[in-house]
Amino acid sequence: MKIIIIGAGLGGLESGYLLSKAGHDVCVLEKNPKPGGCLQTFQRGNCTFDTGFHYVGGLCEGDVLHPFFKELGLLQLPWHQLDTDCFDEVLWNGQSYGFANGYENFSKKMSEYFPKEEKSFQTYVQLLRQIADCLAQNDGANLLEAKTAEFLSQSAYHFLQKEFSDSTVRNVLSGTSLKMELNEMTPLYIFAQSNGSYLQSAWRLKGGGHQIIDALAKGIISNGGKVITNAEVTGFKVNSDSIDGVIINTKETMNCDAVVSDIHPAVLLPLLPDGVVRKVHTKRVCALRNSAGMFTAHLKLKPGKVAYRNRNIFIHEASNLWHEIPSMKSVCVHFSVPESGNSAQSIDLFTPMEWSDVARFADTKRGQRGSEYEEFKAQTAQRLIQTAQSYLPDLKGNIESIYTSTPLTYRDYTGTYEGSAFGILKDYDRLLATMLPLQAPAANLYYTGQNVNFHGVLGVTFTAKALAAELCK
Ligand SMILES: Cc1cc2nc3c(=O)[nH]c(=O)nc-3n(C[C@H](O)[C@H](O)[C@H](O)COP(=O)(O)OP(=O)(O)OC[C@H]3O[C@@H](n4cnc5c(N)ncnc54)[C@H](O)[C@@H]3O)c2cc1C
Repeated sequence: MKIIIIGAGLGGLESGYLLSKAGHDVCVLEKNPKPGGCLQTFQRGNCTFDTGFHYVGGLCEGDVLHPFFKELGLLQLPWHQLDTDCFDEVLWNGQSYGFANGYENFSKKMSEYFPKEEKSFQTYVQLLRQIADCLAQNDGANLLEAKTAEFLSQSAYHFLQKEFSDSTVRNVLSGTSLKMELNEMTPLYIFAQSNGSYLQSAWRLKGGGHQIIDALAKGIISNGGKVITNAEVTGFKVNSDSIDGVIINTKETMNCDAVVSDIHPAVLLPLLPDGVVRKVHTKRVCALRNSAGMFTAHLKLKPGKVAYRNRNIFIHEASNLWHEIPSMKSVCVHFSVPESGNSAQSIDLFTPMEWSDVARFADTKRGQRGSEYEEFKAQTAQRLIQTAQSYLPDLKGNIESIYTSTPLTYRDYTGTYEGSAFGILKDYDRLLATMLPLQAPAANLYYTGQNVNFHGVLGVTFTAKALAAELCK
């Protein structure tokens, strides 16, 4: 079957790799000059900066991501394991809490900080283990039909509230969750998957996330497929309710038997001609709530001045992570693995940022947004740097250069709706409305990527596998 995949983000490339390996004739089309989407990297001098990728969980044998990455040929990349006794450090009200690997270790260490909650920590890690097992045993089944549905239809917030009476504990346990957006509607399953795999083992990729992209693209090509860049899908050729081909850069048509979309559904659906999908469906999907975006300050450091920390540091000045988007009040500090030695070459600081913060610049183009935008970015970066410096004093005076990105950057690079970092927010109480199925509403159109099931490297990888199972039945 000739399959066109729209978008060479992680989801498009993983799907392309698995489908081409299964014998399909795959062509991945990417609008940008470089594939990768959120996993793109950029180079400044001798520093490689990651954009939307910092670490993954669960790569040891027996862990949740291991079998997927084995199948995708990604285990041999230069993975670098974070400190097993503190891979994430959460700073809450000035107190430091270390997250240790291993369910039992984690529970023990947390109980030392909060002795009264010992039993609840045991219940919590049992749940994480159970949910990790669900994913390992899923084998491509629809999450809503699988055992998983029980955990999807519970609120993570309500679970934590029932289990932990102390709000500090709830916030500390959620303190590494800048990798998702928390609210009372967040399904327990998604919260547990986003946090649980890291408790198994946590890894950075030395040299940057583009290596994942390069390996997958190379694999697709050696399986006989293609990855074409500078190829924006701008429309479709349709026959009744199915798609015969896609239109590239408003000119060229490429025929196919099926289309897989790795782009945000609110961007995809309006590209379909009238009649293929019911207008009411498009309207409904476009109205779904998305996560906020991210502001990132990428810092190139003076050589030999700042110690490399083999952990992520989450600094919180918010009062409740579940009831506000902690824009500017929560900062994650991520260190890139140095090429050699113990000094950091670069770090990224990031914080959630809402579309409304940049909406006034929405009509501008990359590189031409004007001095007010540049000033806004510089001031925001300085605020994050000040917060980070209060916990990392060696940062002071040792920053060589600063590069920034906002939700506008993401809107324009990856085409994500309003620069949303993690796409459509799932709602435990409205699963059918917020969990997209793999089969999109046209006969031979499918979804992959972070908007289906759940986001992040684990969620996107799981979905690619489920899609391949669906198309190779
Ligand atoms: C700041 C930030 C930090 C993150 N950190 C982590 C982390 O540490 N660990 C983790 O697991 N996850 C992390 N994530 C989440 C993770 O990066 C994403 O969930 C995942 O990469 C999404 O992949 P995707 O393929 O679904 O989408 P995308 O990466 O958005 O890919 C979509 C692709 O489609 C292309 N495209 C769009 N429109 C068209 C068109 N019309 N025609 C052709 N191509 C098109 C885009 O250019 C892009 O390449 C982070 C995200 C952000 C924003």
